[in-house]
Amino acid sequence: MIERLYYDDSFLHEFDAQVLACEPEAARWRVRLDRTAFYPTSGGQPFDTGHLGAAAVVEVVDGEHDEIIHFTEQPVPVGAVHGAIDWQRRFDHMQQHTAQHMLSAAFIELFKFQTASFHLGREISTIDLAAPSVAPRQLEEAERRVNEIIFDDRPIAVRYGSAEDLAAQGIRKKVDREGTLRVIDIDGFDRQPCGGTHLARTGQAGILLTRKCERQKQNWRVEFVAGWRALAAARGDFAALRQAAEYLGCGMPELPENVRKIQDERRATQRDAKKLTERLAELEAANLLARHAETSQDGKRGIIVFIPDDASSSYLAMLAAKIVATPNMRVILASRAAQAIVLAQSTGLDGDMGALLRELLAPVGGKGGGSKVFAQGTVTEISMLDGVVQAARARL
Ligand SMILES: [Zn+2]
Repeated sequence: MIERLYYDDSFLHEFDAQVLACEPEAARWRVRLDRTAFYPTSGGQPFDTGHLGAAAVVEVVDGEHDEIIHFTEQPVPVGAVHGAIDWQRRFDHMQQHTAQHMLSAAFIELFKFQTASFHLGREISTIDLAAPSVAPRQLEEAERRVNEIIFDDRPIAVRYGSAEDLAAQGIRKKVDREGTLRVIDIDGFDRQPCGGTHLARTGQAGILLTRKCERQKQNWRVEFVAGWRALAAARGDFAALRQAAEYLGCGMPELPENVRKIQDERRATQRDAKKLTERLAELEAANLLARHAETSQDGKRGIIVFIPDDASSSYLAMLAAKIVATPNMRVILASRAAQAIVLAQSTGLDGDMGALLRELLAPVGGKGGGSKVFAQGTVTEISMLDGVVQAARARL
């Protein structure tokens, strides 16, 4: 049984202990101590990192028989050792975790929404609320209530007692476990059984910001950041907004309206461009049919071969469709810019354009296919295009 120093002093970040065992395991070392300030992953809070002597601690987990396993990158000699945890990482975890207690309590106090689970991630943390729905107004109210508690700078105490003692005092979550329970008591606001590490006063959480809120199966997932993370998030938001405002040459408050306007304009421009492209394809098709149609060897069909260098694949397809709307036509279109080729023919003609294109592209490693009347494909290098076009011409 290990002495968990973080239970009674979550601010302890250096300590002395005895190394009881150190065994190699999969390129790392498993180290057991008689006492530790390292927090092992549990209850939604990730493990601490740091050092045992000179060895870097890269993971900490709960073992069997109330033990804690420290995984290190180097061996740690059995005997006395000095441990130091990465305080920045731990304090960040304490800020997020304590903020979670407060946010969960605020949702119960205001709306009776229970927290089903909690996750502390690398950048954001989440709680899953068992609630029919969470409105933006409720999110803001809970955020406001938590910040009120933070600005009160209330003391946070660790208390121990049996389940009955604690039930009598009133705790947030019912626990059926036997023996002594550890409870985190936020003065006059919340009592919650928990084995994690917490702040000593609510003010140390700095500020809490709720972020995204979305349905997650039968629950509602609320993202939040607290403390230094809230500062980083606000700083990041500000930088992104300022950059966007600079691009648009407007003030930040005008951003939403300006972005909406640009979107409307873009949609209108896309509609216009589509209409113009259609008209261009119609004119180009008429021009090709009038001036550039060759006749097949048997004299029965018209053939058009056209390579507009800068056309997109979709333009080739549009142009081909307009040309083969005329009976008895076959068309070969290619674009160097798109490295694309289109084969098409009027309905009612023999032959299979899809099969032909697949056959022509296979030797050069191109991709494509289609139906009897329309096929499109691409080549991997521009230099292959002329060869494929010539081969297609010879076969039509
Ligand atoms: Zn906790």
